[in-house]
Amino acid sequence: LVRFHGVRKSYGTMEVLKGIDLQVRRGEVVALIGRSGSGKSTALRCVNGLEGINAGELEVCGRSLHVPGVDLRDLRQDVGIVFQSYNLFPHLTVEQNVMLAPRKVHRIGSDEARALAAEVLSQVGLAEKAQVYPEQLSGGQQQRVAIARSLAMRPRLMLFDEVTSALDPELTGEVLRVIERLAAGGMTMMLVTHEMAFASSVADQIVFMHQGRIWEAGDRNLLADPQTPELKQFVGSGL
Ligand code: ATP
Ligand code: MG
Repeated sequence: LVRFHGVRKSYGTMEVLKGIDLQVRRGEVVALIGRSGSGKSTALRCVNGLEGINAGELEVCGRSLHVPGVDLRDLRQDVGIVFQSYNLFPHLTVEQNVMLAPRKVHRIGSDEARALAAEVLSQVGLAEKAQVYPEQLSGGQQQRVAIARSLAMRPRLMLFDEVTSALDPELTGEVLRVIERLAAGGMTMMLVTHEMAFASSVADQIVFMHQGRIWEAGDRNLLADPQTPELKQFVGSGL
């Protein structure tokens, strides 16, 4: 579903992705880990076209992002992204937040949109919160609404960038369980996370990025037996 081949990305003169090769197959969960500044978010942002690449090839859901003229709106219907900050509309109810994009983009009627909202809200365990406003929810619940909002577009691929980093530890678990359930349901996803135990339990591939490169990659056992000093140190630092 995703193929990076020699992908390079610079900001000005600073190269932050220095030749990334990575494949994500349908139904796979790929966890990106690494120190701050190693290029994890940049790699994700390239996948849904928030950043263009400077060299190499990047195929996402059958589109070649390295070829000019890609329809980004079209791409982003297939690729959902959820960030650390959830940015729900405060003046809209949970249900209205979730229905907004599908109503606009897919032009579905209000009954259908309501049914869709009910479905995706129950996927994140918040069916009973449809009529409340974001401020009446905990941070973890708001993040789950943000995930539901993304799911309402029926993406083929989901990207999660440190979605639990802003949450108190006791709220982190409920969000991770939602992601785990999505994975079990066959959703393809790429996630940047600092939750090493979570990465090791849910990911099919773990990718350790260091200084803009994939330094080491492997299956979910990667962290139990790191090969490079850099990954050893990263695992040992408890980040
Ligand atoms: P973190 O764990 O802190 O989120 P990261 O691995 O996600 O880090 P990136 O956000 O991908 O790292 O950033 C990689 C490098 O690119 C960093 O050195 C960062 O300062 C730089 N960078 C990121 N976005 C921009 C931008 N829009 N303009 C200029 N430089 C940027
Ligand atoms: Mg980041």
